[in-house]
Amino acid sequence: TTLSRHFSATSLAMAPISKEIDFLVIGGGSGGLGAARAASSRYGTKAMIIEGKRLGGTCVNVGCVPKKVTFNAAFIAETVHQAKDYGFSLQETAPFDWTTFKHKRDAYIKRLNGIYERNLANDKVEYVHGWAKLLSRNQVEVTLDDGTKEVVNAKKIVVAVGGNPTAPPAIPGADFGTNSDGFFDIDKLPKKVALVGAGYIAVEFAGMFNALGVETHLFIRHNTFLRSFDPMIQETVTNEYERLGVKVHRSTNLDQVQKDEASGKLTVHYKGAKGEGSVADVDHLIWAIGRTPATSGIGLEEAGVKLNEKRHVVVDQYQNTSVENIYALGDVSGEVELTPVAIAAGRKLAARLFGPAEFKTARVDYTNIPSVVFAHPEVGSIGLTEPQAVEKYGRENLKIYKTNFTAMYYAMMDPDQKGPTAYKLICAGPEEKVVGLHILGLGSGEMLQGFGVAIKMGATKADFDSCVAIHPTSAEELVTLR
Ligand code: NDP
Repeated sequence: TTLSRHFSATSLAMAPISKEIDFLVIGGGSGGLGAARAASSRYGTKAMIIEGKRLGGTCVNVGCVPKKVTFNAAFIAETVHQAKDYGFSLQETAPFDWTTFKHKRDAYIKRLNGIYERNLANDKVEYVHGWAKLLSRNQVEVTLDDGTKEVVNAKKIVVAVGGNPTAPPAIPGADFGTNSDGFFDIDKLPKKVALVGAGYIAVEFAGMFNALGVETHLFIRHNTFLRSFDPMIQETVTNEYERLGVKVHRSTNLDQVQKDEASGKLTVHYKGAKGEGSVADVDHLIWAIGRTPATSGIGLEEAGVKLNEKRHVVVDQYQNTSVENIYALGDVSGEVELTPVAIAAGRKLAARLFGPAEFKTARVDYTNIPSVVFAHPEVGSIGLTEPQAVEKYGRENLKIYKTNFTAMYYAMMDPDQKGPTAYKLICAGPEEKVVGLHILGLGSGEMLQGFGVAIKMGATKADFDSCVAIHPTSAEELVTLR
């Protein structure tokens, strides 16, 4: 049987959509795919997934995946630049063909979309391309691509519709800017960009643009960025961005954007702690000021599902919403907005609803989730920041180990080429249990996962110390902290 409703060159007929389903998942992103595939492939549940755009959601299409590929390009640009210090005679400015790169990146994402679709078919999940709207706790109306509407009765429904970039503030000309979705449409290497925001996205984009040789202006409302991270990270990375040449406009807000219709270039006007000014000839202005759940127009209120003041679906720790049989997970529920968190939530929910008895209380543990910012340098963080730890345990019950050094990679380089490395280990109580780990420097992204396992297992400082160092690495400094 044809389980997918997508048209292919060989099959122009669409299979009729099922009218009765056990598990209906709205949203084909990380969380929805995790839930639907687990329900069907592991527990034999009759599952359907409804997606109106491309399979894979934010992460695959306009997030983690194309971002990381672009980060890799930026990393290569930096490496090429640094290579001469190791004796290679490469050109100082590496020519980077953004357009070719972008097309290759698009093709890769398209391949992934296909793989996701095949995975659904392999797992016997019915995939419907269309737009879903809740009618009640057991009914969903699906508008198909050809405009026809079908009603599906579902025993259980999961809302996993994710979110969208938050709209810019109401300043004149704000809409001349784009957002993180638009970033992935840029098809020519820009000369000058402006970004607004201080979170993961703004910081990652700014670092990549700068490394690729684009004049980069980053506007932040406060004195540092990444303010939800440990102060060591905020301060070191904000300073490092300035050292690398990013024009960080601290404590500054935009108040007007103008567009020159002839050239298409923007002029952004700002007001900040250091007075007012403007930046002209900007190719792209990117707003990256957070994300907003996609909870409008899908019948949540009509079905009685409670939203909070930020319009996230209110869920308990088992992903239950305020309405029986309706669940929500991933970014739409405003939990930690990370792909692996959504996938884990989806799988746990499927296990709890359809799995054997031992999974009846399955849920995601939202503590000690490691996360990485692909900044320059990479940042990794798990557990409590120092201020959070002080609040929870009291300063007198903490022991904090810190180090900062120059990674051996930079030994062959001129002083102005040397990037920072800094680590902080926050330990609590007489047993010095590790309650926070914050790292920045080369390789931090890959490094954190293993330390995350240790911390999840409840490692103490003594456990860290009992592991013999791997020499010469940067990571070894974490098991030799004094
Ligand atoms: P974040 O919520 O991380 O950051 C947005 C920040 O922008 C705010 O914290 C705020 O910082 C600042 N801001 C908000 N409003 C304004 C404004 N009007 N003007 C100027 N600045 C403003 O959102 P992102 O959009 O960066 O990312 C969304 C989520 O996506 C993240 O929370 C993360 O979970 C996920 N993500 C994860 C990645 C990863 O794992 N590597 C990569 C990318 C995204 P302040 O208060 O300091 O001004």
